[in-house]
Amino acid sequence: MITAEATTAPASLWAYTAPETAANPPLRGDHSTDVAVIGAGFTGLRAALHLAEAGTRVIVVDAGDVGAGASGRNGGQVNPMLPFNAPSKIREIVGAKTFERLAEASLGSADALFDMIRRYQIDCQARQNGWLRVNHSNAAHRKAIADTQNWNAIGAEMEVIDGAEVRRLSGSDTYQSGMVNPRGGAVQPLMLAQGLARVARDRGARIHGGSAVKSLSRQGDSWVVATAHGRITAQSVIVATNGYSDDLVPNLAKSVIPITPVQIASDPLPEDVIAEILPHGHTISDSRRVIMYARREPDNRMVYGGHGQPDRHGNLGGFDWLVKDAERVFPQLRGVTWRHRWGGKIAITDDHLPHLHEPKPGLLVGLGYNGRGVAMANVMGRVLAERAMGAAPETLPFPITSLAPIPLRNAKVFGLPHVIRWMRFLDKIETR
Ligand SMILES: Cc1cc2nc3c(=O)[nH]c(=O)nc-3n(C[C@H](O)[C@H](O)[C@H](O)COP(=O)(O)OP(=O)(O)OC[C@H]3O[C@@H](n4cnc5c(N)ncnc54)[C@H](O)[C@@H]3O)c2cc1C
Repeated sequence: MITAEATTAPASLWAYTAPETAANPPLRGDHSTDVAVIGAGFTGLRAALHLAEAGTRVIVVDAGDVGAGASGRNGGQVNPMLPFNAPSKIREIVGAKTFERLAEASLGSADALFDMIRRYQIDCQARQNGWLRVNHSNAAHRKAIADTQNWNAIGAEMEVIDGAEVRRLSGSDTYQSGMVNPRGGAVQPLMLAQGLARVARDRGARIHGGSAVKSLSRQGDSWVVATAHGRITAQSVIVATNGYSDDLVPNLAKSVIPITPVQIASDPLPEDVIAEILPHGHTISDSRRVIMYARREPDNRMVYGGHGQPDRHGNLGGFDWLVKDAERVFPQLRGVTWRHRWGGKIAITDDHLPHLHEPKPGLLVGLGYNGRGVAMANVMGRVLAERAMGAAPETLPFPITSLAPIPLRNAKVFGLPHVIRWMRFLDKIETR
């Protein structure tokens, strides 16, 4: 199993470039609070900030520390749309009323994140230069046109572009068309997590690292959260453990499929190598089943991401494939040294939508952003906080659903490497 600690930088570019911050001390002794939050990623920290700002007492605990999970390791792409599903399909799953709120929250999620970063003056290299989603095949092109029309009909404001424009905006001539979403952008994710923690702490939240929660139990009207050296008694608990979820809450880990995206990053590259690549600062991802996503840093580093695969010892793999793919998509990068290699775990849900659960009164869980958590986890964190403070379910953008195991989950997890290989094969044929 990959733990947050096992894949911690120095390998990560984000840990390499973020200013050093003092570790948050482990929880020791007995404490009482209004809300205990488990997990100091975007979901948990955003919830803590919202609660603290409203004057609610909140304590956050993390097995590692702030941003130790996916939030400190991701591609930092702020992509303002739910992945995979057409709006009609989502409406069918969540119902018409919730769909309106969910679509609004999702389409507005990037703007909301950038607004929050500005409001709290979080220094995380935030830039809203737009997101390019590019099409690898005829079928992907047709689907993108339909998706763009459908999402634009409810306010997405995206633009379809042809291959020549993709070439101009990305520096890659691998793709035949694309879509530009001007609301997208990028952040330095570890700095965003650290900034959220600072702002939450300034408003009274307490944050403890090195504090894996060992048990969660009900005592009278309260919840008791126990770590190796401490205990929190709380009215409510928010579980924000996403791809790192374990058996703390029955069925939680079984309700998602954990996958392990990985990334590589170069040193700053000479202008003649990188000049044509993403010259206007867009982020980019593609339409393949096994996608790539990439960005160019202000100091001319390239960051390139895709799907990884842990070996049986829990070490991350898949980097060699990523290097080859980066050189295929951007031939300008041939021979570049990829100094940083890292990854993390995320949670995929069976309906490809984020899930909000309330398995017991006062116990809330939010997870499952399907690779779009930079913007959506910040929405979920706020929503979890509002629910913990008493917001009615019918006002929330996510339906509160039961915590059910994914059918045949073990077989799906076991078979994932084979499925990925098969999807890559199909992608390759279509790309030709
Ligand atoms: C390599 C990679 C690239 C990605 N790229 C993008 C991208 O470009 N754009 C995008 O939108 N999304 C991206 N994502 C997804 C995004 O990072 C996640 O969806 C998001 O960070 C989830 O945030 P979170 O707070 O819910 O979970 P996490 O940040 O994973 O936090 C969960 C935390 O829970 C803690 N925890 C777990 N169990 C316990 C316990 N028992 N006790 C205490 N603490 C515990 C862990 O230590 C961890 O810190 C990427 C993810 C990865 C890994």
